[in-house]
Amino acid sequence: QLSHRLERVASYAAGFHIVADIGSDHAYLPCYLCLKDDSLKAIAGEINEGPYQSALKQVRLSQLEDQIDVRKGSGLNVLHQGEEIDVLTIAGMGGPLIASILDEGKDKLMGVKRLVLQPNVASHAVRQWIMDHHYRIVAEDILEEDEKIYEVIVAEPSEAKVAYTETELWLGPILMQHQTSVFKKKWEHEKTSWKRVLKQVQLGNKSVELEEKQADLNRKIKMVEEAL
Ligand code: SAM
Repeated sequence: QLSHRLERVASYAAGFHIVADIGSDHAYLPCYLCLKDDSLKAIAGEINEGPYQSALKQVRLSQLEDQIDVRKGSGLNVLHQGEEIDVLTIAGMGGPLIASILDEGKDKLMGVKRLVLQPNVASHAVRQWIMDHHYRIVAEDILEEDEKIYEVIVAEPSEAKVAYTETELWLGPILMQHQTSVFKKKWEHEKTSWKRVLKQVQLGNKSVELEEKQADLNRKIKMVEEAL
């Protein structure tokens, strides 16, 4: 049984021919996709030995060795230069790590039609990377599972550079438009915790750093208040 989170990620990766899942851990995502579509080919990339072995085992157990190639290595290094990939998925990591994997592997992204990214935290780092590298966000999703809130960001190459506002980078240009109850819950929660930090900062001794931190928190609180 796939988690609700990975099921959502999978829904945006379905319908293509070749999927690469980076940081695949047990390779649950490529296994799920390949069991549903026997014409699909997938690559499961893993940097760490333990999860790499788990991926190999899961693929063997699912009898998907002909469809899924499990490769050990960091980020997009597991992909060969010029190798055809339709969709790249990176899920369950922090936004800055996802952005750095994309950045270090930029040369492997040529020809990739879609990125399906699921940052656990700091999704603005992912959107910033998308904006800076000629992609545009075509879909976004937000869901709650086991008391955690997850975002899914789907991006495709764009001829024109798309400019997102700071609020769109943080909250998500599409998520902002829909403002589901989970979205509102997430940002109410963030706002409350920023306000708590702000109170602590205000209690501290005056310093340039603390004043900057205070200004940054006030700006972010205002951003969320205006958007909700
Ligand atoms: N993608 C799965 C999911 O969403 O459930 C697994 C998420 S797990 C929390 C993150 C996985 O990414 C770990 O198995 C870790 O070993 C792997 N990982 C971290 N950095 C990586 C990198 N630079 N390249 C490939 N895999 C990486």
